[in-house]
Parts: sequence; C-alpha cells; structure tokens
Amino acid sequence: MTSVHIVGMGLAGSLAAWEFLKRGVRVTAWDDSSGDTSSLVAAGMITPITGQRLKPTWRGPELLARARETYGEIEQQCDVVLRREYELRRVFRNADMQEWFRRRSESGEFDVFGVREITPGELDGVVYRFGGMEHGNVLTIDIPQLMAVVRSRVAWSDQPNPGSIIIHCTGFRALSDPLWSWLPLEPSKGEILDVVIPGLDLRHVLTNGTWILPVDGDRYRIGATHDWDDHDPHPTAAARAELLAAAQSMVQHDIAVVDHRSALRPSTKFKRPLVGCHPHHSSHFVLNGLGTKGALQGPYAAAQLVACVLDGVDPDAEINIQRWWK
Ligand SMILES: Cc1cc2nc3c(=O)[nH]c(=O)nc-3n(C[C@H](O)[C@H](O)[C@H](O)COP(=O)(O)OP(=O)(O)OC[C@H]3O[C@@H](n4cnc5c(N)ncnc54)[C@H](O)[C@@H]3O)c2cc1C
Repeated sequence: MTSVHIVGMGLAGSLAAWEFLKRGVRVTAWDDSSGDTSSLVAAGMITPITGQRLKPTWRGPELLARARETYGEIEQQCDVVLRREYELRRVFRNADMQEWFRRRSESGEFDVFGVREITPGELDGVVYRFGGMEHGNVLTIDIPQLMAVVRSRVAWSDQPNPGSIIIHCTGFRALSDPLWSWLPLEPSKGEILDVVIPGLDLRHVLTNGTWILPVDGDRYRIGATHDWDDHDPHPTAAARAELLAAAQSMVQHDIAVVDHRSALRPSTKFKRPLVGCHPHHSSHFVLNGLGTKGALQGPYAAAQLVACVLDGVDPDAEINIQRWWK
C-alpha cells in the first residue's frame, strides 16, 4: 500500500492528509513551525465576491460546494465545529464600485449568490455614501482547530517511511527549497487584529475592503492587510493604524486591540493554487499557492492532489504546476 509523508501541516498539509486518510493511505507528517503561520492567524473566511471590482471568485459555486462537503465531513467524523455562517454587508468606497455593481447585477453574475443592493444613505448606524451590497453564502472555517484534529490522526515523524511519496505543503517557504523555488509564489504579508468593541452588536460581516468579523459578544476580528514587499514576519504599527482607521470609518464605537498578529501568505501571481508532481522527481508532489483563499480553494486543490498521486490523474490545467516549469 502507498504511504505518504507530508512536510508542512498548515491548512494545505492538513487537507491533503485528510484526503489521503479517506483513501486508506498511511500518512506520516512533519512541521517545524515555532511561531505564527498563515494558517494559524487566518480568519478562515470564505466570501464568494471579492475586491474593488466585486469579482465573483474563480469557480465560486463549485469550490464552495466542495468546501462545505469537506469541512462538514471533518466536523462529523472528528466531532468538532469548524464552520460558522454569516451574512455580509459591503460598503462601496467610491463611484467605480457602484458602477461595477450595476454592470455585474445587469449581466446576472450575482444571481447565484442572492446579492441585494444597499442604496446610498445610512443603515444601522453605518453610512453607505456610495451605496453597498449584502449577501449570504459567507462562512468562516476554524483553521487552527481543523489542523489540530487532522494532526491527531497522522503519525508525527521528521523522517518518511522508506519508499514513501513526499508531499510538500510548506507555504511561502517553498521559495527557499531548491526543489520548488521555481514555483510562481509571491508571498504577501497579512496582519489581523483581535479587538473588543463594546456596544457594537454587529451580527454580520461588515467590510469596506477591511472587514469587521463578529466572533463572540463584544469580540471581533479586523483584517486583513496585504503587503508584497515586507517579508519580515512581525506585526507593524503601520498595519495596525491602517486597519483601525478603515474600521473606524465604518463604526463610531471605541475599539480596543487585544491582539495583533501577522504572517506571510503563500500567494501566487495568478491567484490559483499550485498542484502536481515535480517534473524531475516522480516521488515528490506539491500543494501550495492557496493565497488569500485557502479556506475556499484548499479542499478542491487537496482532492486534485490526491487524485494525481493515487490515480495518476493530471490536475486541472489551471492549477497544474507543469505550466510553470522551465
Ligand atoms: C492575516 C491573514 C488573514 C487571512 N485570512 C484568510 C481568510 O479569511 N480566508 C482564507 O481563506 N484565507 C485567509 N488567509 C490565508 C490563509 O492563511 C492561507 O490561504 C492558508 O492558510 C495557507 O496554508 P498553507 O498550509 O499553504 O501555508 P502555511 O499556513 O504557511 O503552512 C505551511 C506550513 O509548512 C511548515 N513548513 C514550512 N517549511 C517546512 C519545512 N522545511 N519543514 C517542516 N515544516 C515546514 C510551516 O511551519 C507551516 O506550518 C489569511 C492569511 C493571513 C496572513
């Protein structure tokens, strides 16, 4: 029987491990992390529409269905709760966003997501100067919890069993590995705040590019920044100020910061995961490039990886690493 050894047990490694375990494969795994990683600090949010241009995310409905199925399966079999459902309200920052909203509404792109318009004015104490929109189909995944339950089901070892297939899920650090340094990764630093906002009583996610995510009672998370130049892992005063200013432009309540964390995301130039077999080393495979959308794209990418390793099926051409090999 095949056995696999997974190097890097963040979200990517954990989802890969889960898919291999489901197929009855023996899994050993290793992670040498000593501080915050992207998977440990992430909010784990899944949103079907993102960015200034309000673009529906790549293969949104298909990937969302897959994600719901995988996380639901883990919840059921491991007796944990990973998912939490939200509504989301988006504050448009300028007239361009209003125009993107009009175009995409008219073309029917939003129909599947049940998007509703928020007309310019004030709603529940928030000013929508250029209007906004609201929709459901937003959820968070408790990624640290997911990692913990999957880790408890694999054998922990820094050495693979003889003959094992090696699965590399090392996030942005793949760039310093000679085997994978050619992958088109562009790490992006993200910072996030855990805060208390007494009296806000927000039940939905509120975003103007920066989001405020209700956690419990007066506790919220505010995130996240994107910086492609700063590769120092530590939190910065500038990012904290940026996040607070953006949040404070939506809500007038006092915000007390209780924690501030940061990490480097394994982002790619083309905003798709990276999956496949090394072109010159047939027992080495990779799952990486989850970028800003690991919670949504991870389950699909992990299933593609496992089909590639166990069934010899080429990964989806849009995520297959072969296209990047020179
Ligand atoms: C502030 C912030 C907010 C975010 N919010 C969201 C969000 O709301 N929704 C969303 O979907 N995504 C979000 N993300 C992105 C999300 O974190 C990533 O998509 C995902 O977690 C990446 O997972 P990964 O396993 O590929 O990488 P990582 O989390 O970086 O994991 C890689 C692992 O490999 C280990 N490793 C590396 N090299 C070695 C080695 N040589 N030996 C052993 N172990 C090694 C590392 O220690 C690490 O544990 C956010 C990220 C940040 C920073």
